[in-house]
Amino acid sequence: MPAARAPRRPATAVVAAGRPPAEAGAGLTVPPHFTSTYTAGGPVVYARQGNPTWSAFEEVVATLEGGRALVFASGMAAVDAALSALPHGAVVVAPAGAYNGVDSVLREGEAAGRWQVRWVDVKDTAAIAGAVAGADLLWLESPTNPLLDVADVPAAIAAGRAAGALVVVDNTFATPLLQRPLESGADIVLHSATKYLSGHSDLILGVLVVAVEDEQRYAALARRRTLGGGIPGPMEVWLATRGIRTLSVRFERSCRNAAILAARLDRHEAIERVRYPGFGAMVSVEIRGGSGAADAVCAAASLISNSTSLGGVETQWERRRAIPNEPETTPVNLVRISVGIEDVEDIWADVEQALTRAG
Ligand SMILES: *Cc1c(COP(=O)(O)O)cnc(C)c1O
Repeated sequence: MPAARAPRRPATAVVAAGRPPAEAGAGLTVPPHFTSTYTAGGPVVYARQGNPTWSAFEEVVATLEGGRALVFASGMAAVDAALSALPHGAVVVAPAGAYNGVDSVLREGEAAGRWQVRWVDVKDTAAIAGAVAGADLLWLESPTNPLLDVADVPAAIAAGRAAGALVVVDNTFATPLLQRPLESGADIVLHSATKYLSGHSDLILGVLVVAVEDEQRYAALARRRTLGGGIPGPMEVWLATRGIRTLSVRFERSCRNAAILAARLDRHEAIERVRYPGFGAMVSVEIRGGSGAADAVCAAASLISNSTSLGGVETQWERRRAIPNEPETTPVNLVRISVGIEDVEDIWADVEQALTRAG
């Protein structure tokens, strides 16, 4: 008989969850299942509906968030599925300055008459509570990308629920290691698994997580994935499962590096403002001298990658407004830094030389 299973802490769950049963001779990992269909008579008949490689990754994320997970082809495919439940003419409350893909989807949907959006400052819980009256959906992101504004997530979720709105929390920046919104009553937790969960800047993937007892929502979202067709390839999901095994050590190191860099940047004369929530691995800085100076700083790096995206092992930065469709809430001179796991002294040396060379 196998030993009784004690509840597992997150650093253990990322390693232990989503493994095949430990039977004699069994492999330790679920391989990428490259198949489009299955022999009739099993629980899944066609591979748009499910894949054992997806299930392994979903089990890890589900264990971390405390729910049931569904993997999607991208974070935006997950966003699309989460929004698909809204009735026509719905009222949506969303953060001013949310991730630019979400911002664009909401603005374009509103322009097309699909829904109406009430924009709120996520830092202002009273404003959220005021805006959710009569709303169908409360969309939360905290910390926000790239302003790193922090919401009182439990209080905001409670306000949304009290108003009868569906509450979705984009948990990409905090990760389930720092924040588990389902425990505070969120209906859906969303991740761009492209970022910290997979962690190696080599794939694009999304996940939705719902409470274990919320079977209807799980079934509706699974059906949306099957019929919308936004399904991931087995190789991407296998890589993400490999990547998530080290989430806790990667994220711990990145967070520690970020705290050190934020403190040093705060004292640097080329920096107008540092945005750092006091946790997490993202730091945004506003560079003295405007957008030109910020572009020059990004281009002057030698170790740090001047590229969009975040959450990988390598430190990356970019001037955020250089990206198409970035909301105007983002200052033109804001450089978003995704702090990696390198030796912090090498990251800092590169930051310093770039600030000096561009200045
Ligand atoms: C990147 C990102 C997304 C979109 O995810 P993709 O995997 O790029 O489709 C959504 N939310 C946040 C906060 C993100 O950073």
